[in-house]
Amino acid sequence: MDLMLYDTWERRLRPFEPIAAGHAGLYACGPTVYDYAHIGNLRTYLFEDTLRRVLQLNGYAVRHVMNITDVGHLISDADTGEDKMEKGSRRTGKTAWDIAAFYTETFQHDLVRLNILPPMVWARATDHIAEQIAFIADIERKGYTYRTEDGIYFDTARLEHYGHLARLDIEGLRAGHRVDLGAKRNPTDFALWKFSGDEQRQMEWDSPWGRGFPGWHIECSAMSEHYLGERFDIHVGGEDHVPVHHTNEIAQHEARHGHVPANYWPHGAFLKLEGAEKMSKSDGGFLRLETLIERGYDPLAYRYLALTAHYRSQLVFSWQALDAAQTARNRLRQAFHRLPEGGTPDETYRDRLLAELNQDLNTSKALAVAWEVLRAPLTDATKRATLAWADEAFGLGLAAWKPVEVAVPQAVQALLDERNRARAEKRWGDADAARADIERAGFRIKDTPQGAVLEKA
Ligand code: AMP
Ligand code: ZN
Repeated sequence: MDLMLYDTWERRLRPFEPIAAGHAGLYACGPTVYDYAHIGNLRTYLFEDTLRRVLQLNGYAVRHVMNITDVGHLISDADTGEDKMEKGSRRTGKTAWDIAAFYTETFQHDLVRLNILPPMVWARATDHIAEQIAFIADIERKGYTYRTEDGIYFDTARLEHYGHLARLDIEGLRAGHRVDLGAKRNPTDFALWKFSGDEQRQMEWDSPWGRGFPGWHIECSAMSEHYLGERFDIHVGGEDHVPVHHTNEIAQHEARHGHVPANYWPHGAFLKLEGAEKMSKSDGGFLRLETLIERGYDPLAYRYLALTAHYRSQLVFSWQALDAAQTARNRLRQAFHRLPEGGTPDETYRDRLLAELNQDLNTSKALAVAWEVLRAPLTDATKRATLAWADEAFGLGLAAWKPVEVAVPQAVQALLDERNRARAEKRWGDADAARADIERAGFRIKDTPQGAVLEKA
């Protein structure tokens, strides 16, 4: 059964054929660590994790590399404006280095909470300055660069097919930009190395061209090649990377090696906030995983929500949708928990699950098959084993979960007793007041056939 992947380069589904049998090299553009990740960013990492898990289910040994952008990502994609790290430093009063370390850690913690498998290699841009300088020097020797007052730029007119990934309309862009090109020769040209100039920078390095720092795109070209080689299998990122970041990574690589670095380019669609244009860090208002947790949601409820949409369709976030996802995921794991161990996966269902996942990661269909397993004429142990197998791809932590016995503080238990008494004596006002006090203490009353019990709200 072939794994079909959508390739933005060819704009079609293609069967995955690895460069080396049984292996898959996967490069993912990681976070810019100047702020917390928002749940939109995390949707992209969930998609990438699903891809990795499905590759593994298909028997591939995956080498997953993710970079950390801790320098060089400017506020504007047009190579102008401040470096996001230096700006973060000014905002918080911490050094750019401290900020990078802090947000790298919070990002990695988010991944753990979402049950996202850690990449085999974390590649920090600031740890690979020498590779980036060597890359730029090579394409300079090959004649693809020019110097302006503020840096070394890539001359995109030197490439015949620049912009193919995004199907950029180069002539149209040229016509639209006549006036504000600045020192750039073409509107699509981008910085490879920026000079520090008069700016007081915390992150800067010496280079053959002068003191400064690398542009954002060169880090991914240098590090993907360093860790995965001149040709590797799959390069992923969010859909916003198509027109600029990945387009420029490809341009750099073509200039150096005469070919595209990766064979497959799947891209994840954006998460949108209900009613909002888009969710972005720079707009300030964004939802973090922490925000969801504070409102009583399990991070894996968000993972379930992400799985309900195809990664190439836009997903609109709402609290109602998250509620529904949390309920569904809780039901699934409760049902799973009641099933006995000791079975083996049912082959027919395993094939059906894999067929959906292999169809360009159709997770919502695969989830529907998982629910079907619960109702299927299989033994309970077989159901459990089949679902456990599917959860290798879903990552919903089904097997890891056990219902927790909540410790109820004595005072809260006393309130419940008071509420039971009040109800028995038909003092409804007192009963309601006791319920309100219980809820304020963070508990919820659940009426069961055995009587009222307390749950953590
Ligand atoms: P950044 O930290 O801004 O470099 O972005 C990290 C990742 O999140 C990139 O792969 C982006 O494509 C992706 N991304 C940014 N915004 C969203 C969004 N609203 N929904 C999904 N992915 C996003
Ligand atoms: Zn990148």
